[in-house]
This record gives sequence, C-alpha cells and structure tokens, in this order.
Amino acid sequence: MPVTGLPPYDPANIFARILRREIPAKVVHEDDFALAFHDINPQAPVHVLVIPKGAYVSQADFAAQASEAEIVGFWRAVAAVAKALGLEAPGYRTLSNMGLDAGQEVPHFHVHIFGGKPLGRMIAVD
Ligand code: 5GP
Repeated sequence: MPVTGLPPYDPANIFARILRREIPAKVVHEDDFALAFHDINPQAPVHVLVIPKGAYVSQADFAAQASEAEIVGFWRAVAAVAKALGLEAPGYRTLSNMGLDAGQEVPHFHVHIFGGKPLGRMIAVD
C-alpha cells in the first residue's frame, strides 16, 4: 500500500502508459530501473522527467517500498541523464512534487530535471 494520502497506484496513469509504450514519448534514457523522457510542456530549455520502472505513486511511496537496488539505480539514472544532457558542468535543478500541496499531477513517482539556462531562485513565495 502507498504510504501517502494519495490513492493506490493506478496502472492507467499516463506515465505507466508511457512505460508500456502505449503512448509516445521522447525517450532520452532507459535502463533496468528508470525511464527518462522530455516533458510534454517544458518549463525550461531542458525539462526531462525520470521515472522508476516500478509502480510507485510518489516519492514517499518509493522511499518506503522500493528495494535498495531500485533506489540506487533510480538516483544514479537521474544523475546520468543530467550528465548525458550536458547539464553537469553548467548545473541543473531536480524537483519532485509529492502529494496535494505540491500539486502532483501524475501519480507515478517522477523527478523533473531542469536546465539549459540560469534557473533563478528555487521557489516563489506568495
Ligand atoms: P507533476 O505536476 O506531477 O510533478 O508533473 C507532471 C509532469 O508531467 C508535468 O510537467 C507535465 O507537463 C508532464 N506530462 C503530463 N502528461 C504528459 C505526457 O503525456 N507526456 C509527457 N512527456 N509529459 C507529460
């Protein structure tokens, strides 16, 4: 069971469908633990999403339920993707929205990678 207030994992979510190749995505990396592809609505010159191959609703769910191999493999993939995209030297930002207050839209854990220009302050406070 997921550990958050989010509903149980829905295998019909859009990222599960991308993983099954039921809908297209601009894939930049795939390995045993992760799939990375360009965001459909980029918020920076480079905006890539990295998702684990396992069925995890959120970051909290992933941290609690995934195996150590999955966790290590996933985070290594995040860094490898950023490096392969040429972002390691200039720098980049990773972000994961978790749950309602963060506005998580897709209930399959994912990390955003942003880069390609100076990204400014981390967050806007009202
Ligand atoms: P969240 O708000 O859940 O952290 O981010 C979900 C992200 O998924 C958004 O940035 C959104 O643009 C992206 N997204 C939603 N649907 C699709 C899709 O069908 N394909 C791709 N490549 N990205 C998507």
